[in-house]
Amino acid sequence: MILEQEKVLKTYFGYESFRPGQKEVIDRVVHSTNTLAVMPTGGGKSICYQIPGLTMEGTAIIISPLISLMKDQVDSLLALGIPATFINSSLTPEEHENRMQEIANGRFKFVYVAPERFESTGFIRVVRKIKIALVAFDEAHCISQWGHDFRPSYRSIVPNLNQIGNIPVVMALTATATEEVISDIQELLHIENNNVINTGFARDNLAFHIVKGKDRSSYIRAFLEEHTDESGIIYTATRKQADALFDQLSSRGIEVAKYHAGMSEQARKQAQAAFIHDQKHVMIATNAFGMGIDKSNVRYVIHYAMPMNIESYYQEAGRAGRDGEFSDCILLFSPQDIQLQKFLIEQSLMDEAAKQNEYRKLQSMVNYCHTQGCLSSYILDYFKDATPHQNCGRCSNCVEKLDKSDITEEAQMILSCVKRMGERFGVSMTAKVLKGSKDKKIQEFQLHQISTYGIMSAYTEKELTELIHFLVAEQLLATEEGKFPTLKLNRNSVDILKGTRTVEMYTIPIPTAEEEDYYKDLFEELRSLRKSLANELNVPPYVLFSDVTLKELSRYFPVSKGDMLEIKGIGEKKFEQYGEAFIAVIQKWRLAHPEAKTRIKISGGAPTPRHKKKEEEGPSHLVSYKLFQSGKSLKDIAAIRDMTTMTVENHLFKAFQDGYPISWNIFFTDEEEKIILAARETVEEPKLKPLKEALPEEYDYTKIKAVLVKNGLK
Ligand code: ADP
Ligand code: MG
Ligand code: ZN
Repeated sequence: MILEQEKVLKTYFGYESFRPGQKEVIDRVVHSTNTLAVMPTGGGKSICYQIPGLTMEGTAIIISPLISLMKDQVDSLLALGIPATFINSSLTPEEHENRMQEIANGRFKFVYVAPERFESTGFIRVVRKIKIALVAFDEAHCISQWGHDFRPSYRSIVPNLNQIGNIPVVMALTATATEEVISDIQELLHIENNNVINTGFARDNLAFHIVKGKDRSSYIRAFLEEHTDESGIIYTATRKQADALFDQLSSRGIEVAKYHAGMSEQARKQAQAAFIHDQKHVMIATNAFGMGIDKSNVRYVIHYAMPMNIESYYQEAGRAGRDGEFSDCILLFSPQDIQLQKFLIEQSLMDEAAKQNEYRKLQSMVNYCHTQGCLSSYILDYFKDATPHQNCGRCSNCVEKLDKSDITEEAQMILSCVKRMGERFGVSMTAKVLKGSKDKKIQEFQLHQISTYGIMSAYTEKELTELIHFLVAEQLLATEEGKFPTLKLNRNSVDILKGTRTVEMYTIPIPTAEEEDYYKDLFEELRSLRKSLANELNVPPYVLFSDVTLKELSRYFPVSKGDMLEIKGIGEKKFEQYGEAFIAVIQKWRLAHPEAKTRIKISGGAPTPRHKKKEEEGPSHLVSYKLFQSGKSLKDIAAIRDMTTMTVENHLFKAFQDGYPISWNIFFTDEEEKIILAARETVEEPKLKPLKEALPEEYDYTKIKAVLVKNGLK
């Protein structure tokens, strides 16, 4: 019986409508037309072969490159009540024998195999005898030498397939599609141009961010605090970085998993399972992790350092948000990353031409980190994505950088301090000297005697460290590589010291967790039910229901079958198997929470935005000003808003310049004001630094600046 496709989508998968491209692909395949589907990660490629497989007579054979992928897909189908299995090297001879027998009896709708299987005559013999619905190449870029994961056996099976004879239709699915790869796949699998369905690369639920000039590990800790309970991956550039970050976070009691090629297979397996089964929320890994991970509820991917090219970056970052929910992709950039990647290319075994090509790709990656334009558009342009696109409005370059402040003078003080210290020290010593720290090492090196000692004592060492990192990130100050990188001036630094170049700093706020419009405690209860059911069945939790589904349940509290079927991701089949168990939890929760408001589910509603809109709060400096007027100290405001106190100060001064009153007595006394104004008359150049030098030590920069602002002198 041929079921209507929309009905299958609803009954089995619980989805209302097709995603872009799905219908076009399915229509072609059910009419026995060889088809290539090019859709981004998370675009919903599986359904493109699962629906034809379900509606067509016979068994669908899916070629998949990885054992973990096969198992995931089979588990998902079984959870939907669809007979499916896989054949691969992980089976015992008996299991293998039994499954082959069942395949021969036509018991399965779906059989997943690795390409190597087609080299086995036993397998070919069975396949020849049964009724086949279709053959699908998942991750089809593996077929092409031009693809980044070329698998020779993917290619060499094509002649074998041609000999089988009873294959009505072949399809291919991939997320990576450069022109070469597409035409390679087309040629090998006989796919005509108008049967290539390419929906482009855009991932509308991902927000890309570039973060520069921040201490990486403190940024990550702050981020994790904002995002407890959300699943995420942190990619490092090297094993060493992964180990160090893992130790650092673990020692602070943060539960993290780790994965890299230097670990035993057993340890890697365990780490991966803990992450997939939601036992550990954070995975710290090198690029060895991720291929074959279909975990749908990864809410963020942080790159601890810049990766080697845009291809790897987009693939790794793209592991966030497969379920279509808003997710963040954050790249922590520092100029040292470039040196590291250059070094990795240099010592690789590639020939000279290949190296040059890698350097070229690296340069595009570096440009991505420096572009002022939309990050999503940059990536799409890089891949020559033909679908029209505009600025995304989500990335860190699109989201207005409101917290801009001029820090030219601060930069000058830092740079001149680096110079006075003989360009022989690193970030933390420089920060200590600027702060005027009493650290023993300062005395040892006689650094307390140089003129810049303590000139920025109004700042905390942490703030100074951040400022220095910022200058390095912007290449306004250089670092000499080595075990303890030392700070050096470069051409830009000289321009700043000469006063021919100004410096502006942005504060990019840490992306916050989404606004919750569902009942979190109910969500947690449903999540633990899901976990225990999944454990019983020995499948990953997201195979039963995605987070999206659980969130909808904790928003609409359906307790009847009809209402349940309205929920995204719940179809007849899933309802039959798990519906009652979830209804029971919802009912119990509702009894305990009679005050909870029921909402009416409107089908097809847009997902809720992850980021609060800035405009609602008004301009950033006025937000700080309001907090200040409500009696908060500068320090508190800085902590609340994750900014430096310097930025907050600048906000207040700006507010004053906009006409808002400030009670100046928290900055200086009348007496101090008089003295500062008098001193200003005596210095040649009315700048902060000479002024500071002309005044007694207890007159810090904030005080001086405040007086100048109040008197309209700055
Ligand atoms: P891909 O293989 O393209 O990376 P998947 O096939 O794994 O993506 O699908 C990603 C997610 O999107 C899955 O959770 C899937 O159930 C969901 N999905 C697929 N099609 C639809 C649809 N039409 N409506 C809603 N969700 C969908
Ligand atoms: Mg897939
Ligand atoms: Zn953008």
